[in-house]
Amino acid sequence: MTDDELDAIMAKVSRAPIGDDALRALREDQRAPLTDPSVIPTPDFRAGGVVRFHCPRGCGWYHDENPGRDAATQVFRIALPVACTPADVTTAISAEANARADAQRRRIEAALTEHDEREHRGASC
Ligand SMILES: [Zn+2]
Repeated sequence: MTDDELDAIMAKVSRAPIGDDALRALREDQRAPLTDPSVIPTPDFRAGGVVRFHCPRGCGWYHDENPGRDAATQVFRIALPVACTPADVTTAISAEANARADAQRRRIEAALTEHDEREHRGASC
């Protein structure tokens, strides 16, 4: 792509009106907290719903998770006000989902960190 072609594209983009929804999404994105850095590598997806996280150092060790099995076997309870609204239900379900995702992230990070400390002594290279 030449500079002229890029300039032509940028001119079109800068003149394009931004809709209310897009503008609102941009504002909400800016308010979203930054995520914490993580040691979790990209997993492999295995048969039976198993999600496998390999040691990033390539030693052959891995940690398996099975989110589908966990979701099917864990008790799912949410607390709602007596006169709840659809927004209350959405908020409660989202809070439960976020709590489960956070617990899973902590469990995976702990497994990877413990393995790294035990087998690789937490070496930085
Ligand atoms: Zn390892």
